[in-house]
Amino acid sequence: MPIFEYVCDDCGERYEKLVMSKSTKIACPKCESSKRTIQLSVFAAPANGAKASNGSSSEPSSGGGCCGGSCGCHN
Ligand SMILES: [Zn+2]
Repeated sequence: MPIFEYVCDDCGERYEKLVMSKSTKIACPKCESSKRTIQLSVFAAPANGAKASNGSSSEPSSGGGCCGGSCGCHN
């Protein structure tokens, strides 16, 4: 189901709305203004917390070509 994110043009409130149909009424939950700007945001990718880029505890057991050079392990 499509969930869109909007920013209210009047008060700047950010809110999400589950849009089932085109006739879904969308209004700011704060000031009830219908003036809003849709945010075409990606579904919040967890930028923090996921320790994917720095696996310090795992040794490169297979010698060479482990990651294509993108991790800087060639030093
Ligand atoms: Zn508002």
